[in-house]
Amino acid sequence: MIRDHFRVLRVDLADGRGEVVTLEGRDTVAGGSGLAALLFEKYGHVDKPWSDPEQPLIFAIGPLTGYFPLMSKTVCAFKSPYHDQYAESHAGGRSALSLRFADYDGLVITGKARRLSVVSLGSRRLEIKDVHYMQGLDLQITGKMLRRMFPGSGHRSILRIGPAGERGSAIACINADTYRHFGRLGSGAVMGAKNLKGIVIQGDGSFDLPEGKTYAALFQDVYKKLTDTDMMDKYHNLGTPVNVLVLNGIKSLPCRNLQQTHDEAVEGISGEKFAEETLMRNTACSGCPIGCIHVGFVREKFMEPNQYLYRQVSYDHEPIFAAGSMLGVTNAFKVLSLIDVTEKMGLDVMSAGVALAWATEALEKGLISERETLVPLKFGEPEMYKQALGLLGQGENDFYRLLGQGVLKAAKQYGGEDFACVLGQEMAGYATGEVFFTSQALGFRHSHLDAGGYSYDQKHQDKDVEKAVGFLVQDEKERVLLTSMVSCLFAREVYKREVLAECLGSLGYKTLADNLEALSRRVQEQRWKIRVATGFNPSAVEIPKRFTEVITWKGKVDGDYLTALQSGYAKRIMEMGRRD
Ligand code: SF4
Repeated sequence: MIRDHFRVLRVDLADGRGEVVTLEGRDTVAGGSGLAALLFEKYGHVDKPWSDPEQPLIFAIGPLTGYFPLMSKTVCAFKSPYHDQYAESHAGGRSALSLRFADYDGLVITGKARRLSVVSLGSRRLEIKDVHYMQGLDLQITGKMLRRMFPGSGHRSILRIGPAGERGSAIACINADTYRHFGRLGSGAVMGAKNLKGIVIQGDGSFDLPEGKTYAALFQDVYKKLTDTDMMDKYHNLGTPVNVLVLNGIKSLPCRNLQQTHDEAVEGISGEKFAEETLMRNTACSGCPIGCIHVGFVREKFMEPNQYLYRQVSYDHEPIFAAGSMLGVTNAFKVLSLIDVTEKMGLDVMSAGVALAWATEALEKGLISERETLVPLKFGEPEMYKQALGLLGQGENDFYRLLGQGVLKAAKQYGGEDFACVLGQEMAGYATGEVFFTSQALGFRHSHLDAGGYSYDQKHQDKDVEKAVGFLVQDEKERVLLTSMVSCLFAREVYKREVLAECLGSLGYKTLADNLEALSRRVQEQRWKIRVATGFNPSAVEIPKRFTEVITWKGKVDGDYLTALQSGYAKRIMEMGRRD
């Protein structure tokens, strides 16, 4: 066995000290989501608010990280500023492999630094550096400075926040190595509350691979499966933006604050259009041969008569929907320029786009005026949105500060709850129907990745509540297994249970390999238990009226079916969250 326990670095920002902690539990929770839950149970406080300095910010990797391809994600866990409950957010980039090379299964940061700081860690070193002079700096400048201050590209990973995180916006993200994000539920504000501008992980150690032929042969086999299947074409070629036209074609693309699910002009922001006109290159998370990250460019005139600069901006389906169709912006370069501003501010692009879509409709309906928005927001007008994203990130006035806590909080004050596109948090880019709406609204991460509800909607015409709820619970359980390893979910067709068992077996994790069903059920329940203990009541979740007005290829959303799904899923969640 590679290691039968967890080796976790705990950093306390209050006294500037760190310690390496050894924890049992490898055979019961594996790592990733399971380890994060275990660490929250040990260091978290269900009864204290998210911003309490004692609350931990947790990063966890899995037993297969660094040993097999696409085991490339890190799980970040924290008490969320969005709902003050236990939450997870996942990101690729280099952090997972950097932690592996630094010889840690997890990182736990507690306390609050006296001044704005950066934590830099490696296999044998820990430094907490005062960076008060970086206060308010945007995320791109912060990245440039941190790369200079902490040299060592390759195995180095840089996690950082922008102004939105420093200010405590509940829709602030943690940027991971420029092109990936711990995007959702406000992890950026948790770093901000700790006075933490950045975390630099230097993967400056090394680790041995298993001896003998079994591991090497299995690695080759898995690698071949991952690169021989249509994954390469699906994710490397156009990437997730291929969904834009597909969803538009089946009337499932949220457009103009979900007033429409189809837009004739959407060709201008299709995956094909982005590839033809804006794509500069593909890049990848460490340890991934697929390279699904698509990087386009934004060109800006910075001086007359003809001085231009360009910046590289990554795009995916989700940012395109949020900064594009949801705002009625259908020019690929304009969408990239909006994503670029969102990145600088350190905002979650999905929440920020959906928030401005709601504000636009609220302005149209006279619930708010330009006194609040400061700029005349209008669907299809990118220049207005560009300014508004800056105002949202900076928390320019009371309105933007409240909107930065989430759309529903703003709608409670100004009205417009009916058309707030919120499913637990601001919606993801799928208006496929009742099962997806239920899945995101009640799902553990309020993410489209919690379970494949969007794909279930597209494959099923029937309205069998028990079957659909059963699917959500089962699919979540399978995904929890992957996020405990911690695999990129794009590899889920390859990393089936048998393959995972073989991989674990080749590293000597025999008990884990033989008990995957029990493991996934245990971690699934454990996460729900913590979530419920921190205040989640799935029966109290309200899905705004706008979602019942949606028309997809199946026709109008069935409100009764939606209600039945909600109540059935809520019951199952509470069973899991209370099971002994
Ligand atoms: S498929 Fe994409 S997101 Fe997944 S590990 Fe590879 S580059 Fe990262």
